[in-house]
Amino acid sequence: MPQYKAPLRDMRFLLNEVFDYAGHYAKLPNAEDTTPDMVEAIMEGCATFCEEVLAPLNLSGDQEGCTIDDGEVTTPKGFKEAYAEYVAGGWQGISHPKEYGGQELPMSLNLLKSEMMGTANWSFTMYPGLSLGCMNTIFQFGSDAQKKTYMPPLVSGEWTGTMCLTEPQCGTDLGQVKTKAEPQADGTYKITGTKIFISAGEHDLADNIIHIVLARLPDAPKGTRGISLFIVPKFLINANGTLGARNPVKAGALEHKMGIRASATCVMNFDEAVGYMIAEPNKGLEAMFTFMNTARIGTAVQGLAHAELSYQGALPYAKERRSMRALSGKKDADHVADALIWHADVRRMLLTQRAIAEGARGMIYHAAKLADLMVTAVGTGDQAQYEAYDDKLGFYTPILKGFITEMGLECANLGMQVFGGHGYIKEHGMEQIARDARISTLYEGTTGIQALDLLGRKVLLTTRGKCIKDFTNEMLAQAKPHLLDGGPIGKMARAAAKRALQWKALTLRIMLRAAKDRDTVSAACYDYLMYSGFVMMGHFWLKQALVAQAKLKQGGKDTAEFYQAKLQTAEFYFERLLPRADGHKQSMLSPTRALMQMDQEHFSFA
Ligand SMILES: Cc1cc2nc3c(=O)[nH]c(=O)nc-3n(C[C@H](O)[C@H](O)[C@H](O)COP(=O)(O)OP(=O)(O)OC[C@H]3O[C@@H](n4cnc5c(N)ncnc54)[C@H](O)[C@@H]3O)c2cc1C
Repeated sequence: MPQYKAPLRDMRFLLNEVFDYAGHYAKLPNAEDTTPDMVEAIMEGCATFCEEVLAPLNLSGDQEGCTIDDGEVTTPKGFKEAYAEYVAGGWQGISHPKEYGGQELPMSLNLLKSEMMGTANWSFTMYPGLSLGCMNTIFQFGSDAQKKTYMPPLVSGEWTGTMCLTEPQCGTDLGQVKTKAEPQADGTYKITGTKIFISAGEHDLADNIIHIVLARLPDAPKGTRGISLFIVPKFLINANGTLGARNPVKAGALEHKMGIRASATCVMNFDEAVGYMIAEPNKGLEAMFTFMNTARIGTAVQGLAHAELSYQGALPYAKERRSMRALSGKKDADHVADALIWHADVRRMLLTQRAIAEGARGMIYHAAKLADLMVTAVGTGDQAQYEAYDDKLGFYTPILKGFITEMGLECANLGMQVFGGHGYIKEHGMEQIARDARISTLYEGTTGIQALDLLGRKVLLTTRGKCIKDFTNEMLAQAKPHLLDGGPIGKMARAAAKRALQWKALTLRIMLRAAKDRDTVSAACYDYLMYSGFVMMGHFWLKQALVAQAKLKQGGKDTAEFYQAKLQTAEFYFERLLPRADGHKQSMLSPTRALMQMDQEHFSFA
């Protein structure tokens, strides 16, 4: 089983050497507590908790899974104690307002925390993770009284939260939501309906569970414009803040699923449960999507987490397991055969995992800075700034969520492949990573939906290509000073500049085609998303490589090996992974005819 070790050296490299987080925090209002010492203490404390408490429960949690008895869900052994430790450590509220008992540290620190927790044990991380969505919604749209009631116990972690959107007939197309909300004379609502696939819908970790529920008022318009948002607590809350009567919202069943088996995914039945409206009537979906970017970046972290964990599992195995001799001659002469790591094809797998994990970390840490700025704008009530940062983040979000989770899944599969047949056997924990990773491309918007969002909404509709122009200009500005450099840096800079120009030109071609053939967007969007992901990751790899090169030149007390390996991983990325963008380019530019010409009834002749 992989022994999770938080990759603190790489995290520090990005925070301190690449992205100057100390400078970033110094400029944020109210971030005077976020000193480099504080960041270091959080990283180290979180790493210890993840390595010593969460990681040991990952395999056992998967084996045991959750159980349900008459609507009461029991989490696997050790989860309750681990959650209590998480709450006692004050981890839940690190980025939430002091007014509600949080530490009010920047949002980016929460993402670092999620990376470590999620890599150690994604199933566990789902419980506090869903609470974040619930807290953000109440914080942004709740009345003062609602905030006062719900925020403190959610921020402390004493209570957890859920997001109840999906119903049997709809997950993506929430305009089809049927759950009903009937107004009552006392200003509350009776909520009736069934939600499925609700993460952390019921469990034994916390005293109360606060559901955020999408439902329809009796006179609501059809479709997405007729959906409202409600707070539905598991236990009603008395006027003095103590827990009151049990609300009729109950887990009807646990979903039996492929992975993240220790995360309780519930069918939730609302049977005239008492609900309190949050946000304006019929504007529920808008409110729900306010923090969508940050929630989706949270899911992008899952791609990074599984690439990292799978790499951590595969690497020691590749060094220990022996098979045949390397093609270039004996490497481990004292042994009967050479270690797997000497074979180029095994190195291809390991370096792909490493390049994706470290490249994804770079992309996410950059986006995390934007998230800090966006949250700051919300806090200061600066609507224009909020919209500007949200738009910027909105461009990164589908690429990060779609591309990183797809690649995380590929890396999880590669981890099994390095183990050969042993990767398929449960005891090594490698197949669990692949099973756990599979959901990441499905929830929080499938890859197809991220791709449509990127190409259809962000690129074509909202910005008419401006987001691509802006980002590719950043790419060119970074690459330009190095175009004539010799060695790997020059090669990488030229490749990045070429891709920037190509991305811009491609976007224009797709725009022109979409104007003539309406199926173009749906037909091209997946390849456009993956192309964008490979090229964007190239930009962030060049950024890391430039710093590593400069540090190597500088010399100094830091080990040269780290920077050397960074540069070599960057070179691998540019030579072996970035060229995959070509395949996506070719595919996306093909006419839609081959996709659309077949008659629906000719898809099968059974
Ligand atoms: C383990 C797990 C946990 C979950 N947790 C939660 C939770 O906590 N809360 C919650 O509310 N939900 C949750 N979900 C639900 C999840 O978000 C949905 O399953 C997901 O959004 C997809 O919706 P769907 O399953 O209805 O698929 P559908 O919407 O039916 O989509 C099916 C396929 O069609 C494609 N598709 C759909 N529409 C289009 C289109 N217009 N153009 C092109 N392609 C399209 C999709 O990309 C997908 O490939 C969870 C699901 C799982 C499995």
